[in-house]
Amino acid sequence: MLEISNLALPLDAGLEGKQAEKLVRRAAARALNIPPSDIAEIRLLKRSVDARKKHDVHFVATLGVELTGGAQAEAAAIEAAAHRKSAANVKAHHPYETLQVPQVDATPQAQNEPRPIVVGTGPAGLFCALYLARAGLRPLVVERGAAVDERMAAVDAFNVGEPLDPHTNIQYGEGGAGTFSDGKLTTNIKSPWAQHVLHLFVEAGAPEEILWQAKPHIGTDLLVDIVCNIRKQIEQAGGEVRFNTQLTALHFENGRLTQAEITQPEPVTELIPASRVVLACGHSARDTFELVRDAGVRMEQKPFSVGVRIEHPQQLINRSQYGKAADHPALGAADYKLSMHLRPQKGEEQGRGVYTFCMCPGGEVVCAASEPEGVVVNGMSRFARDGQNANSALLVGVGPEDFDGEDPLAGIKLQREMEQTAYRTAIAAGGEPYQAPAQTVGDFLAHRAGGPSKQVKPTYARGVAWCDLHECLPPFVARAMEQALPQLDRRLHGFADPQAVLTGVETRSSSPVRIVRGKNMQAQLAAASVLGCVQDEVLSTAQLVPAPASSGTQDQARAKTQAAPESSAAANRQPADVAALEPETGLYPCGEGAGYAGGIMSAACDGLRVASALVESLRPE
Ligand code: FAD
Repeated sequence: MLEISNLALPLDAGLEGKQAEKLVRRAAARALNIPPSDIAEIRLLKRSVDARKKHDVHFVATLGVELTGGAQAEAAAIEAAAHRKSAANVKAHHPYETLQVPQVDATPQAQNEPRPIVVGTGPAGLFCALYLARAGLRPLVVERGAAVDERMAAVDAFNVGEPLDPHTNIQYGEGGAGTFSDGKLTTNIKSPWAQHVLHLFVEAGAPEEILWQAKPHIGTDLLVDIVCNIRKQIEQAGGEVRFNTQLTALHFENGRLTQAEITQPEPVTELIPASRVVLACGHSARDTFELVRDAGVRMEQKPFSVGVRIEHPQQLINRSQYGKAADHPALGAADYKLSMHLRPQKGEEQGRGVYTFCMCPGGEVVCAASEPEGVVVNGMSRFARDGQNANSALLVGVGPEDFDGEDPLAGIKLQREMEQTAYRTAIAAGGEPYQAPAQTVGDFLAHRAGGPSKQVKPTYARGVAWCDLHECLPPFVARAMEQALPQLDRRLHGFADPQAVLTGVETRSSSPVRIVRGKNMQAQLAAASVLGCVQDEVLSTAQLVPAPASSGTQDQARAKTQAAPESSAAANRQPADVAALEPETGLYPCGEGAGYAGGIMSAACDGLRVASALVESLRPE
């Protein structure tokens, strides 16, 4: 099969039916300089929208093409294309190779150990557990929240006014934080695992289009079934998943994990033998971070970002992005991604980054709190993205210099203070518990409490209380937003429309901590200081590139916290000298909470990566 990339296609080629097929075939034939009848089959491999010129919005595609003349004709077409000047590139297509999971259950190492435990069923935990189960290791997966059906009922109940359930909510429960989301599967990380994640999603019921879309997304309505299917696959492969079961303590002896304490409601506490625990607890499990710190595991403060959600009419975004083509049926709801760096303010060494994040076209703003008496917002959407409003986080970077103290968990204090202030501010403005403080952009820039927007009906289910958001944002955050809004409006017309609605506060954009892990993917114990200098050398070479708080997008900004070049399964085998320098603690920090991912894709990739490293460590040399 041939692969033609960078091929411009008219928007009509994105419609269903024979006419659209004809347009695609014609474009492919033109790129190959052959008659359309020489083409036997065409497959869409990638497609994005090019909207840089509003008068010429079109698709840019990569196609897989089979010629009627077979391999010989295809080789000739590649040769001929090499001598032609054309925007499209032609080369041989390499098909996807299915993920191969080595079987390790029968190795002596695996037989001598208790089964691995995976904490959390977010993307990191689920994909990790699936890999471990397929390797024959029968992982035990513990999830503090409920299974997805019970979870949906809890979220629905909360949305209509019931008290917050601190065990099962938008952050906790089957599928993790990604279940109630837009399900964006975009990422900037270049990981060999990413293609496997997309194929595993499809295997679990995701639409095939995620394999070719440049910006794939799934949506909450499909995700709930998909995460449930992945869980069933884990169980079918020999794993066990326990919901409403929380990791509450870790015990180490001589620097090596020996036991894990898990707690179920009643409460019933069980101490189980544990030599390998994958900690994929997400960024909101504050009590879990405390237990990890208290067990003597090395952790660091990490930059993250805080701010608000901004809501516009989706039509306004469509028009700004696509101009006259906005209503073309082949174009879905438009998205956007904005970022900028402000000049340093008084007392600041560097200017702050301000950016939009986790944009949800046709979506809704959700209450993503997991602690009582705190308000946290985020965004989600359905597969169809057919809601009236577009929403996105508008965030300002914060870092250790903004935290109160040296404790690795100091960033959490900042988050919690903002969330509790938002809760109280809304009530002081006449709102009910868990209503969110909100303000129009016009009123925010004019520093007046004001009232409802005349154009945008906020989608936050529990309702908003109109007030002055300056009352619940740290002054430097509010100032940065005030400066950035008019500048961002120049890049996306209407972004700072006075009637756009700001809803506060968004504090859980990424993890405020990093659990230090070595090349062997395992945590380091602070007490193992005899090896401290060696560890630092090893770690600094590859694993711990700090995240710039200011850079811009979901799964991208924070993914820069990712380790250096990712490796394939084979490359997870470390050279003996490096592996020997790193103590085997048995604790594998994984995913977003541990500071090694930022978004569904990178969390899932990290889950596979950690699982692969764990499996490799059980294989004979
Ligand atoms: P999580 O998904 O947070 O999962 C961690 C799991 O661990 C949770 O289920 C939690 O209950 C469980 N847990 C925690 N502590 C314990 C314990 N002690 N014992 C047992 N279980 C425990 N990202 C995108 O890429 N695209 C999007 O469109 C997108 N939209 C989002 C919308 C919303 C509303 C939210 C909240 C997040 C969104 N994100 C999105 C971010 C994305 O969901 C996260 O980056 C991703 O889920 C992180 O995966 P994870 O597996 O590391 O952690």
